[in-house]
Amino acid sequence: MATIIEPFRIKSVEPLTFTTRQEREQILKDAKNNLFLVRAAHVLIDLLTDSGTSAMSARQWAGMMTGDESYAGSQSFYRFRDVATGITGFKHIIPTHQGRAAEKILFTLLGGPGKSFVSNTFFDTTRGNIEYSGAEAVDLLTEEGKKPQLIADFKGNMDIAALESFIREKGAENIPLCMMTITNNSGGGQPVSLQNMRETAAICRKYGILFFIDACRFAENAWFIKKREKGYENRSVLDISREIFSLADGCTMSAKKDALVNIGGFLALQDDTLAREAKNLLIITEGFPTYGGLAGRDLEAMAQGLEEVLDEEYLRYRIRSIEYMGEKLTAAGVPIILPTGGHAIYIDARAFLPQIPVEEFPGVALANALYLEGGIRGVEIGSLMFGKYDAKGKHVAPPMELVRLAIPRRVYTQSHIDYVCEVIIEVFGKRTQYSGYRISYEAPLLRHFTAELENPGR
Ligand SMILES: *Cc1c(COP(=O)(O)O)cnc(C)c1O
Repeated sequence: MATIIEPFRIKSVEPLTFTTRQEREQILKDAKNNLFLVRAAHVLIDLLTDSGTSAMSARQWAGMMTGDESYAGSQSFYRFRDVATGITGFKHIIPTHQGRAAEKILFTLLGGPGKSFVSNTFFDTTRGNIEYSGAEAVDLLTEEGKKPQLIADFKGNMDIAALESFIREKGAENIPLCMMTITNNSGGGQPVSLQNMRETAAICRKYGILFFIDACRFAENAWFIKKREKGYENRSVLDISREIFSLADGCTMSAKKDALVNIGGFLALQDDTLAREAKNLLIITEGFPTYGGLAGRDLEAMAQGLEEVLDEEYLRYRIRSIEYMGEKLTAAGVPIILPTGGHAIYIDARAFLPQIPVEEFPGVALANALYLEGGIRGVEIGSLMFGKYDAKGKHVAPPMELVRLAIPRRVYTQSHIDYVCEVIIEVFGKRTQYSGYRISYEAPLLRHFTAELENPGR
């Protein structure tokens, strides 16, 4: 099989900044051993997130110039609305400045104390908006999805039996909405099957519960369906996407993912009454309904990005580039979550650095080693991000200690990815020499963003 190449050539470039190993030692020390506190200019390959980091196309940039900045009824809004409706089929398309703004509006309208919302897995901002309204957010992920080494096609699925028993237990009248996150962020973008979405939608309909899609990575999910689900191999990704949305009553979208833009999002709704209420809230918090917190040029870039993300040559390359990275690492014995998902690689830091106990943050040790050795920035998803203290002040670790390397869309080439793999494999070869960290400062909430750490062993 011929190499699956980047389906674009490069018209505009941005230089990378190189630092020496010695400089990085100092930079990391100045940043208190926390990669969130390192300046982007001091990072060579930045894999902190795939959100808002896409490279836009020449057509998107051209759209930026033709964006209509009229306050009301901008032509760019109608272009964006028509593209979004063409894919989702939803009647009301409400632009927002990013995904969480759409969530805030939706859960302000539907949430409140005593309510429960269910999902295959809620993204953290979605969970935050639900809990902020006073409601509870419950994840009902399929058992397969909880086993990091298990190879399965659709590890992002909803546990259908658990969903139905949860509804019976809580009472359907207390559950306004069920949300399917596609792809499921946990495990680096594990897909959900159409079969699973159909079954979930049927249960929701039976009990009168709204069924919504968190559509951030809908095109990547649709590509997995085309490749893995029986009966879809000859359907277009656009067609599959339309079938997904046809099952739902609405969606929230962060355009910073699969709309290939640096900022933007939307809320899409079928119901007229809900849409009217949402637009009223939008006017208070985001802006008039034909721009919703965005410039006309942003709407133009989103419209174009939504069309480009459905290009199957692009999706083939996108998903292959993650798989390629996973194959190289697996061949070298590096422990990662399998199979690879749509947008990131997760390294199992506990298996990688078994000498470091969880209360000394093996994920931080690994992420910092990748920065020191190769200028690569990933993010720890483990004891620093999700660890808690029990009543006696003892550290309680989350189930896994991971380092996520998220791949920005259309930004890095295969040689960049080869380089990243080489650095990881080099660090793996020297794994016995790394030691743990301890916290010298932590904030009461979301401590990973600002924590200061020490590495006594170095
Ligand atoms: C990024 C993301 C969001 C939130 O979107 P923002 O644009 O960052 O506000 C919601 N859900 C999922 C699955 C995401 O990945």
